Amino acid sequence: MKITFHGAARTTTGSKHLLEVNGSKILLDCGLFQGRRQQSIQINEHFPFDPASIDVAVLSHAHIDHSGNLPRLCKLGFRGNIISTFATRDLCQLMLADSAKVQAADIAFLNKKRERQNLPELVPLYNAREAEQCLRQFVTVNYRRPMPIAPGITVTFYDAGHILGSAQVVLDIEEGGRRSRLLFSGDVGRGHNDLLRNPEPVDGVDYMLMESTYGAREHDLPEAASDKLCSIVRTAIERGGKILIPSFAVERTQQVIYRLHHLIKDGCIPPIPTYVDSPLAVNATEVFRLHPECFNDEVYEFLFQRADPFGFESLNYIRDTARSMDLNTVTGPCIIISASGMCEAGRIVHHLRNNISDSRTTILFVGYCAQNTLGARIRAGDKTVNIFGESLRVNARIEAIDSFSGHADHSELLDYYRATGGSKKKVWLVHGEPDQSDPLRHELRTLFPGTDFIVPTAGETAEI
Ligand SMILES: [Zn+2]
Ligand SMILES: [Zn+2]
Repeated sequence: MKITFHGAARTTTGSKHLLEVNGSKILLDCGLFQGRRQQSIQINEHFPFDPASIDVAVLSHAHIDHSGNLPRLCKLGFRGNIISTFATRDLCQLMLADSAKVQAADIAFLNKKRERQNLPELVPLYNAREAEQCLRQFVTVNYRRPMPIAPGITVTFYDAGHILGSAQVVLDIEEGGRRSRLLFSGDVGRGHNDLLRNPEPVDGVDYMLMESTYGAREHDLPEAASDKLCSIVRTAIERGGKILIPSFAVERTQQVIYRLHHLIKDGCIPPIPTYVDSPLAVNATEVFRLHPECFNDEVYEFLFQRADPFGFESLNYIRDTARSMDLNTVTGPCIIISASGMCEAGRIVHHLRNNISDSRTTILFVGYCAQNTLGARIRAGDKTVNIFGESLRVNARIEAIDSFSGHADHSELLDYYRATGGSKKKVWLVHGEPDQSDPLRHELRTLFPGTDFIVPTAGETAEI
């Protein structure tokens, strides 16, 4: 058995690992690499293997850094099944289409520049049609339902508690009369998630690929989110302005809606007008409604005994642009939840432009903002920012809640590791920048001297 770490090795993006066993090639995830443009194009355009030679792909969850290059894999000759949970498939339908749309816009912009420089036209990795065609190769299966996928290999999904439908991938392998169990953690959630179940412990693991996004960092406690959200909203209402929440369309938006629903029901905040202003977020919420099998007990009970977790009287979902623009004329306190979370694109940028200089406005960050994004600059407290080429003074109040993170932090990763049973002979730490995975490896080596912990580099092959 051989594993080659083709992506998310010493970085958090482009998850892609190739397992070769019994003459079969199994691809674990096929994510888009997101980084500097030139490097991203290079990495995403060409696969380090022949896509036609892959027998089957297994997808841990729908995030683009795990699923986003599947359409290109199919376009370049992959004909096998893509195995995922139901919710992952449904979210992929939205997210891959969205990725095609973003690429088309990006490429159109670049090509205009290239035309002036007499450079050849660029083409996107895939278009909307190719994204849709890739979905036809999906074969879906629920959690805890073992499914044979290649000679001597069975896959079983266990809940990872990271986003709707997210799974830890368990491969039970029989090779030359010997059995072994390989666990690919995918991205691991924090536990105590508003909507999802905790990451489920897996037993009997011999080999493990474990994520390490926050291997050396601690988050605030998830329980703290509600109180903080409540006090921020109340203060903002007193100030009489809008509350803008830049949010990822999938998962974070639904988490925030569910939290607000609770706060209103419990009388902590008044039912002020609330808008989800992002077509992707609106569609993603529909997918959430379709998959109660992914909810934790609390949300599941809420759904059957009380109400729609993602709907309340003062909440409005907005798809069309005209209604989005109408929000400019809304006076008095209201909440606008809009994508993208890092404020790089989407309708949130328009809302920021119109409200950031108003001292009554509150901007509430509920997720991570990568370096050099507009979101990061606002979060860092820059006094002026550039939006659509216009220099604007930041008079709005800036707030942040970090406890919503979808990834386990340092202590939670250690708990996850401890909860995973089995001989755990070798563990590869993937999906982490070196400043996170290296300290984690060092600590794990000290705590568990019997296990070999490795931080593989991109393209490295491990022979078992
Ligand atoms: Zn993820
Ligand atoms: Zn990821």
